[in-house]
Amino acid sequence: MRLYDTARREVVPFEPGPVVRMYVCGITPYDSTHLGHAATYLTYDLLIRRLEELGHEVRMVRNVTDVDDSILPRAAQMGVPYLELAEAELARFRADMDALGMRPPIAEPRATESIPQIVSLVEQLLDGGHAYLTHGTVYFDISTFPGFGELSHYPREQMIRLARARGGNPDDPHRRDPLDFVLWQPSAPGEPAWRAPFGVGRPGWHIECSAMAMQALGTTMDLHGGGTDLIFPHHECERAQSEAATGRPFARLWLHSAMVAYEGEKMSKSLGNLVFVSDLLKVADPRAIRLALMRHHHRSGFEWHDTDLDEGTALLRRLVAAAERPDGADPRPYAARVRAALDHDLDAPRALEALDDLASAVLSGGSDRGAPVALRELAGLLGLDLDRPVESRSSP
Ligand SMILES: [Zn+2]
Repeated sequence: MRLYDTARREVVPFEPGPVVRMYVCGITPYDSTHLGHAATYLTYDLLIRRLEELGHEVRMVRNVTDVDDSILPRAAQMGVPYLELAEAELARFRADMDALGMRPPIAEPRATESIPQIVSLVEQLLDGGHAYLTHGTVYFDISTFPGFGELSHYPREQMIRLARARGGNPDDPHRRDPLDFVLWQPSAPGEPAWRAPFGVGRPGWHIECSAMAMQALGTTMDLHGGGTDLIFPHHECERAQSEAATGRPFARLWLHSAMVAYEGEKMSKSLGNLVFVSDLLKVADPRAIRLALMRHHHRSGFEWHDTDLDEGTALLRRLVAAAERPDGADPRPYAARVRAALDHDLDAPRALEALDDLASAVLSGGSDRGAPVALRELAGLLGLDLDRPVESRSSP
């Protein structure tokens, strides 16, 4: 199998051992699951399914960021305890993922339950001279890690701009370098706080993932993933602090899934145009949503249009109708195309095209009794169960 590695900037062979250790950054449970989440997690779901078919055991760990700079103000604004908000949104997220046919992770560590690991990692960085404590805050000192920037390859000015846009506060005067980032900080009044040798407070966002990933999977994992918006600062910082602490490579491959736009505009919370999975589930068969998402390659950002759902539904109908036929054309060339597409950087659109071609071939005749069986099996590899009839759901 070959995958695009963000750090090496090319498609490279991905050759893990029998057990694949994979960490995917999870959600901050303060809002509902939108299409961007679904598209990202679909990428890893396809990867897991193909690796399992190839005989690997996949250990995918996906964290829950249940304490950070976005969930705390939201909970305060709603007047509910932040863990209560996290619990409710997490339950909704799991239901949405389940409906879309995504495999659950083998572990879902939570930041609030990983504080001892986080504290000891910060101590390790302080002891090793990679971090400094000033005005109650512990910062990572990027001057001690010459490889900083080698994951994203972004120029320094762009890193500063992105840090500013994504909550990094590079203008904070206490930092030695604007790109130094917070490992531990004092909690604001009303925020949760934990006792640590370097002060009472709460962790920075990036250190949470490093601690949870290494706790669950060891110092080096086969693959680390998330959306492209996490490349900088989140993953660049995670990589720097983890490798500075252990002296070992943190991830052998970095896989990032592109962003989804909606009807011509960037899909974002601030624009109020997020498309929520739960809303789509009210009007469409979940498999149609999955199919509509799979028509886009994980590396090309795409725009979602309301009509995409109709196309997904039409394709689902064709697939289910073909699966109900007693026989059809020789499926082998199509099966080879589906697997080859997945093995070449998870090319879901090409895999889907081959599946659709097989369905058309089955529908137009042939006498191979293995054809509908192969169609169902290949659909299963893509996370689709063709044994159920197509549901027509409508708005309440
Ligand atoms: Zn993360």
